[in-house]
Amino acid sequence: MIFDLHCHSTVSDGKLTPKELLERAVDKGVDVLALTDHDTTDGIPLVQKEIDDNELAIKLISGVEISTCWENKDIHIVGLNFDRNHPAMKEYLANQSIIREERAQEIGRRVEKTKLIDNVYQGAKAIAGEGQIGRGHIARFMIEQGMVKDNAQAFKKYLARGKVGYVPSPWPDMKSAIDVIHQAGGQAILAHPMGYKLSGKWLRKLTIAFKGAGGDGLEAAGCQLAPPHRQHLAALAQEYDLLGSSGSDFHFPSSWIELGRSLYFAKGVTPIWSLWPDYEHVS
Ligand code: AMP
Ligand code: MN
Ligand code: MN
Ligand code: MN
Repeated sequence: MIFDLHCHSTVSDGKLTPKELLERAVDKGVDVLALTDHDTTDGIPLVQKEIDDNELAIKLISGVEISTCWENKDIHIVGLNFDRNHPAMKEYLANQSIIREERAQEIGRRVEKTKLIDNVYQGAKAIAGEGQIGRGHIARFMIEQGMVKDNAQAFKKYLARGKVGYVPSPWPDMKSAIDVIHQAGGQAILAHPMGYKLSGKWLRKLTIAFKGAGGDGLEAAGCQLAPPHRQHLAALAQEYDLLGSSGSDFHFPSSWIELGRSLYFAKGVTPIWSLWPDYEHVS
């Protein structure tokens, strides 16, 4: 069975609508899907409705990717299998939305200092529409205005940590995100541990801090992970008694990242779904 427990729709910075994302997941053979938009769960009922209306066999698990700050770095925590209507979760995500709006405005002001484009926040906001705004929308506005040629260049030149448009991480700490996921009955997963470009020593430090804050698992399978990285993550998971999750972090169709692709664990990982009654014995 294929568990893709990390992906994005137009409800945050993905390019497919929840409906299109679901259709693609079905097409790619995903059996269990979690939609994990940045700091919002608004897409989940839309996906579930499509599943119900069409009597599809794919299963949807509630998901969210929460932005947190650790050691001045943006660290992402994926919440899985929680009650999206839990009041503490709703309140937490409402606050994340406010931080996102304020941060996007501040990024806009910083990017405008280059004198290359104006009305950055307004332009990005129009692209985000009803969705949760993020740096991906600012990057798209920069492309639209001819300031950069693609998303990678927008981040590399302007939006990544240390660049002119970067706002120091405004997010709450990891523990608050892990706590609210637990309060809502779910599990907290350290998202894409290899994505932070940390040294081995710092990755271990992060894993220890995450476990110490009550974290349940780490993403040990992603579609672009090389086998040695999978082995490294499997070893960390075993050493710190963490479960494993798998997810593509799909945002849009490309040659590199695909829903459901290559989501296998290295040996020794106990999947997060071993905690979920329906999937206890599945791998
Ligand atoms: P935000 O949540 O607004 O901080 O934006 C984070 C998102 O930006 C990630 O989920 C990716 O979609 C994208 N992103 C972050 N870093 C890069 C990068 N170096 N190149 C391309 N996209 C990136
Ligand atoms: Mn994203
Ligand atoms: Mn992320
Ligand atoms: Mn993601």
